[in-house]
Amino acid sequence: MKIAVIGAGVAGSYLSNMLDKEGHEVTLFESNKKNSHWPVCAWGASKHMLEYFSKKAGLDFNNYIFHVGKKLKMSLPNQKTEFLDLYGLVTYNKKQWENDLLANVNVEYGINCDKKTFPKEKYDYILDCTGFHRRFLPRPKEDFVIPAYEYLVENISDIDEFHVIGYKGARGYFWYFPLSKGTGFMGAGDIDRKYFGVKEFFDSHPNAKIVKKIGRPIRLSPPKLMEPFCDNNIIGVGESIGTVFPMLGEGIIPSLLSCEIFLQVLEKSTSYNQKFNQKEYREKILNKFQYYYDVYKIVRLKMDGKLNTVKHFNLLLNMYKNMKRDEKRFGFEISFEKMRRLVNAL
Ligand SMILES: Cc1cc2nc3c(=O)[nH]c(=O)nc-3n(C[C@H](O)[C@H](O)[C@H](O)COP(=O)(O)OP(=O)(O)OC[C@H]3O[C@@H](n4cnc5c(N)ncnc54)[C@H](O)[C@@H]3O)c2cc1C
Repeated sequence: MKIAVIGAGVAGSYLSNMLDKEGHEVTLFESNKKNSHWPVCAWGASKHMLEYFSKKAGLDFNNYIFHVGKKLKMSLPNQKTEFLDLYGLVTYNKKQWENDLLANVNVEYGINCDKKTFPKEKYDYILDCTGFHRRFLPRPKEDFVIPAYEYLVENISDIDEFHVIGYKGARGYFWYFPLSKGTGFMGAGDIDRKYFGVKEFFDSHPNAKIVKKIGRPIRLSPPKLMEPFCDNNIIGVGESIGTVFPMLGEGIIPSLLSCEIFLQVLEKSTSYNQKFNQKEYREKILNKFQYYYDVYKIVRLKMDGKLNTVKHFNLLLNMYKNMKRDEKRFGFEISFEKMRRLVNAL
């Protein structure tokens, strides 16, 4: 098959690698120039899952790990603090990982693809991996994004662990994710654009050196609200179809999981000499990310001050059960008691 992949983020890079290995004729288009292309992300994700996907793509994930977390400190409103035990949450060199995935792929950098002018007829499939931009798919039912930005900072001597500050009403959070010695990503996502913690971080770290400032909104709408996933020969994969865990704005692993579903459906359709089965893809995506809709509802209710732990107990229980089942995929402990305390504290 002749396939155009639009967007060299985690979804586009992984898919291009895998499709190329399977013998498809792949061209990846990325709007950024090669030298300035930078994965806007705090580079934190589950080691277990990245080991799994790296192996499939022919990479050794150990070569990319920066920091293996042990405990995540969570500062909460009213001076409360919680600690989460970490089971494989790491930061890794996401830029290098994605770059290495593309070692054998034909990549056209510096091309900002537009649906109207893109030669769609030249390709069997066009994969919309443009993330938040969703440049090739029609408008979804309900899009909801949270503004976010971060700094890459150096010269930080007193923090060597994951730290987040949760905002009242779950309206966002501040993060510090350590990378290699003395460097880290520090930033915040905040629906109110106040970004509490960022200025305070610089005040308390006068020697911090800013290497980079980057940002873009993060999509919190789950796949259920991001249909359609396909439009003629265009197929969306990754954040463009809402594969972000809404409570955390965490999208690396969910995007890779959506890539896996795409590849399975494509392989099956190809083996029967049939067109890509869009119906099967839709069902599998909705099924895999079904509970993200409940999590999204919890987040929106909390943001609107309407979450009631008694009335919405079933929603919370459903979130807990699904997260507990996927504990390894998240990389941190999932405890109902802590979850309840966090929801109440925010
Ligand atoms: C500040 C911030 C921090 C985050 N931190 C984390 C984290 O620590 N852990 C985590 O799991 N998730 C995190 N996320 C979310 C996660 O980064 C995304 O959900 C994930 O990267 C989505 O992957 P993707 O491949 O679908 O899209 P992206 O990674 O966004 O890739 C899309 C690519 O498409 C390109 N593109 C867009 N439009 C066009 C066009 N018209 N033509 C050509 N190319 C185009 C873009 O330049 C980009 O390279 C964070 C997000 C932000 C914004």
